[in-house]
Amino acid sequence: MAATTTAVVVAIDGPSGTGKSSTSKAVAARLGLGYLDTGAQYRAFTWWMLRHGVDVNDPEAVAAVAAKPTVVSGTDPLAPTITVDGADVARPIRTQEVTGAVSAVSAVPEVRARITALQRRIAGDAGDGIVVEGRDIGTTVLPDADVKIFLTASPEARAARRNGELTGAPGAAGIEATRAALARRDAADSSRKTSPLARAEDAVEVDTTELTLEQVVECVVTLVAQHGQQVR
Ligand code: C5P
Repeated sequence: MAATTTAVVVAIDGPSGTGKSSTSKAVAARLGLGYLDTGAQYRAFTWWMLRHGVDVNDPEAVAAVAAKPTVVSGTDPLAPTITVDGADVARPIRTQEVTGAVSAVSAVPEVRARITALQRRIAGDAGDGIVVEGRDIGTTVLPDADVKIFLTASPEARAARRNGELTGAPGAAGIEATRAALARRDAADSSRKTSPLARAEDAVEVDTTELTLEQVVECVVTLVAQHGQQVR
């Protein structure tokens, strides 16, 4: 009997430096699925706020303009794109200025409501299925996702990975500074009132500290395949 193909939705959550983006892109490419980087969307909103002189530490000021930016995400895992009001912001959203401001902007409920609606629309339109990475995908954005993964890693491993990504880029920092910045962002993202960074009860936790990227990808691909066998 021919296997029926249904769109599979994979939610991959966890803090930064756990290998979320690399894993999500590789899994999507391997399985022929779309890929959505929800952190990039929050960064794009933050870039827009900074560009328009909005005080990102004033939640009311951020909420008042939350309906204005138009963020569009391209979901090809081999060439993901992100634009705000038509401008390509793939590079500027990775600056330290944006990274330092994004937790404040993403904590504003009006921003989350808008981006969550956008994320659900993109996932719903993904014909062949999609891998969505973020902080609240399994808990809030797509609680019915077929496969939910929560990636973790030791603070040392996360800081080393993130610092490696930053080296040579604007804002490259020492490993201690990177570790402190990650800890600050985790604390802000985990303690906010609206859909904080959290592991969904039914998510599979994968500690990537001692694993190579290929091993993590293999693990997630296996979980997706197991899900496919269950529903067949
Ligand atoms: O994944 P990345 O580090 O690019 O995410 C940037 C920020 O976006 C996070 O620190 C968090 O404040 C916010 N974010 C979020 N919810 C998501 C994804 C990211 O609040 N689903």
